[in-house]
Amino acid sequence: MPSPLLELGHVSKSFGGNHVLQDVNFTIAKGEIVGLLGPNGSGKSTLLNLVTGFGAIDGGRVTFDGQNIGTLPAHRIVSAGIGRTFQLPSMPRKMSVMEVAMAASTSHHGVLSTIFGSAGARRAEAAAHAKATVLLEQLLLTHVRDLPSSALSGGQKKLLGIVCALMSDPRLLMLDEPTAGVHPNLRRDIVQSLQKLNRQGMTLVIVEHDMHFIREVCTRCIVLDRGRIVASCQPDELASNEHVVQAYLGSVDKR
Ligand code: ADP
Ligand code: MG
Repeated sequence: MPSPLLELGHVSKSFGGNHVLQDVNFTIAKGEIVGLLGPNGSGKSTLLNLVTGFGAIDGGRVTFDGQNIGTLPAHRIVSAGIGRTFQLPSMPRKMSVMEVAMAASTSHHGVLSTIFGSAGARRAEAAAHAKATVLLEQLLLTHVRDLPSSALSGGQKKLLGIVCALMSDPRLLMLDEPTAGVHPNLRRDIVQSLQKLNRQGMTLVIVEHDMHFIREVCTRCIVLDRGRIVASCQPDELASNEHVVQAYLGSVDKR
């Protein structure tokens, strides 16, 4: 059995007296596409934040490819090989789509002329431009590459978020609701792009509510309810899993 790519052991997190994550344990193997599910407020985004260095865990450990990353800052986690998108993408409004994509590369790798000299910086910029060109094409944003990022639709911003995450060549990509609010045509394109990335070797963790998407894309599901993992199962077992049903019915009851 190969060692897991990502492993969480007894991870906990509180905000004040709010126990947002409690004793979270799971492993993700290379090549999986794992759907992370759970009612609103169950801790999904917090889990992604902690794994990617946005906030410190209170207890437990996070291991990526055998390396303890639980205390690393976000930029070191990017360098280690984990990319992510945010539930609500925010990007500099006036920068063009191409500039936003290229900045994701330069900011992560710290390509500065003071380090590499101006010729080295130009080469790095050319490389970032070439990579962004390929990724913008792959994520269907070539026709808007010169527009300011503020001109993009919500769905296109999600795609640009994926481009930015891919600029640092991650081995694990964590996506926070990549298809929420996205037009069905664009959703199909996102699904195909993610499946292609997976065929190329990418491991994916995707926070998602859309059951059709989950059944089509995910190889396994992890379900959170009030900060605890209540199920790890195949997508087609979700509907018959009593803990999953309870988690969602519980959230309906609470409203
Ligand atoms: P989900 O993504 O599953 O909808 P979140 O992880 O965003 O849930 O939130 C889980 C809980 O953690 C919520 O009760 C939320 O209010 C709380 N929370 C998340 N981030 C913070 C924060 N920075 N400060 C205080 N509470 C937070
Ligand atoms: Mg969330």
